Amino acid sequence: MAKPAYNNILLKLSGEALLGELPFGIDDKMIKKISFEVKQVWEMGVSISIVIGGGNIFRGIKGAALGMDRASADYMGMLATVINGLALQDSLEKLDVPTRVISAIEMRQISEPYIRRRALRHLEKGRVVIFVAGTGNPYFTTDTAAALRAMEMGAQVLLKATKVDGVYDKDPMVYENAKLIEEITYIQVLDQNLKVMDSTAISMCMEYKLPIIVLNINKEGILKSIIEGKKVGTLVS
Ligand code: UDP
Repeated sequence: MAKPAYNNILLKLSGEALLGELPFGIDDKMIKKISFEVKQVWEMGVSISIVIGGGNIFRGIKGAALGMDRASADYMGMLATVINGLALQDSLEKLDVPTRVISAIEMRQISEPYIRRRALRHLEKGRVVIFVAGTGNPYFTTDTAAALRAMEMGAQVLLKATKVDGVYDKDPMVYENAKLIEEITYIQVLDQNLKVMDSTAISMCMEYKLPIIVLNINKEGILKSIIEGKKVGTLVS
């Protein structure tokens, strides 16, 4: 096989990616499918970190809208990401992919606490590292956690998994003639308020020059294609 385009990646999976056709929770078929995609690139020898969201279970903003204290609601959101992380670990290990769940909030019975050097060692040993509990701080998002962990793990690219093929000039769910944008700059994303990732995450990637590829996780073999250097989705750089 030709030299891979990337040998160290961070995949950001939103909680929504696990929903499949469900209105809430984790779709077993979907998580299996994603695990299979991850396994394909793991077999190519790529170091893989995953940051997982929790929006399929709980979001801080939802709790706050119901009158909860925002910080408490955000902690609930972070706990939701732990549930998703454990589900993904189980699913990957059923495919014989070794994993470690690393939590930004200590939960020693079910995960390892976040220690940067230790996480790097897991990657070196060929384990897929699943980061949960976001940054460990309320008022942040798992997109920002993804940008942060990508820098810390020395990832060459942040892969943002979505349900559409990339970034469009208008909402592809609403407009049939929406056009896929193949390449765009960080500044354009921020200026046009495009829903790629939240602005804190985009700003961090811009500051440290970390490219983002927005991709459709429902497309078979999508992660493998990216590692093979094929042009898919939208490149933000
Ligand atoms: N969250 C947080 N700090 C973080 C990451 C996440 O407080 O560093 C909370 C926040 O309430 C958020 C929830 O966890 O709504 C779930 O994460 P997110 O919304 O980013 O998940 P996704 O949209 O990717 O499913």
